[in-house]
Amino acid sequence: MFFASDNSGPVPPQVLEALTRANEGHAKGYGTDPLTEEVTQQLRDLFEAPEAAVYLVATGTVANCLALACYAQPFDTVYCTPPAHIEEDECNAPEFYTGGAKLTLVGESDRFEPSVLRRAIGGSGGSVHNAQRGPVSITQATEKGNIYSLDDLRAVTGVAREFGLPVHLDGARFANACVALGCTPAEMTWKSGVDVAVFGGTKNGLMGVEAVIFFDPEKAREFELRRKRGGHLFSKHRYLTAQMQAYLADDLWAELARTANAKSTRLLAGLQKVGKIEGDPRVNMIFARLPRKLHARAFEAGAYYYCMGDIAEGDPEEPVKARFVCDWSIEDAEIDRYLEVIGA
Ligand SMILES: *Cc1c(COP(=O)(O)O)cnc(C)c1O
Repeated sequence: MFFASDNSGPVPPQVLEALTRANEGHAKGYGTDPLTEEVTQQLRDLFEAPEAAVYLVATGTVANCLALACYAQPFDTVYCTPPAHIEEDECNAPEFYTGGAKLTLVGESDRFEPSVLRRAIGGSGGSVHNAQRGPVSITQATEKGNIYSLDDLRAVTGVAREFGLPVHLDGARFANACVALGCTPAEMTWKSGVDVAVFGGTKNGLMGVEAVIFFDPEKAREFELRRKRGGHLFSKHRYLTAQMQAYLADDLWAELARTANAKSTRLLAGLQKVGKIEGDPRVNMIFARLPRKLHARAFEAGAYYYCMGDIAEGDPEEPVKARFVCDWSIEDAEIDRYLEVIGA
């Protein structure tokens, strides 16, 4: 009954098999091996972007930060939402990798409101005294488990475009959003005005690989230099590549995401009976308020997830907010057992 995060599940067997296959003989290092060339081409095909520059790195944080560093000067600001991973969960790595660019928090939600973004950008920059206007960073699916429709995405990137600003997409849960929308990776990125996207693998079942995709290869050389300087050019790169190869084969990435989203839907159906759901969850993350006593009972029975409040102390009937994330591997029986424990 583990709903803490989708990075806590195991790696699918196909990925381990691909690692074993890659573990034959010698291969040139640093991404110059033939398999990396092949997988780079497969990612270009998947994104319908023959010119794209494609790189693999091992964490989502460095994928975001190296991508942003290519578009933000030290005197620039990056526009993001208050709960953005780059703001809350990267320990100032964006500021570090960009050499000091700041982050400007826009609005009050996990999704940009185009008119609010327009006001924020319009009211910033200007004189030599101000932080200069830099990239707009969108998270899809968001940190709160929401998604932008393609129209929403285009409205946000359209605002960036009005000011001539580039758009970065944090896609740690790219696949979950893409299958929920039923769109193609191209539609969710460059066809909607995204300049650089992170195609996340780790949260969706890989051991640790994210692809950074620049739809305009202009920044390719700079990215390579920054990746090496930042200590993130893997020497035994074929083991990153092999994971991505398995992820792409037979669209495993989409299958894993569909599975995780479906698990979450199963959980949601039960949670609705005993708690109050925040928003309209469509990917693999749910925020819900349940009476304190139900969390306490569940934890006692061995469940694990994040609660935004003390579950041991206080009124047993008082609702306490919690986050539930399902990964591809969680068993229906575990979900049902949890729902039974909380009386849903
Ligand atoms: C998990 C996550 C990342 C990447 O985190 P790492 O721990 O560095 O791999 C980036 N963005 C979002 C929205 C995430 O949830």
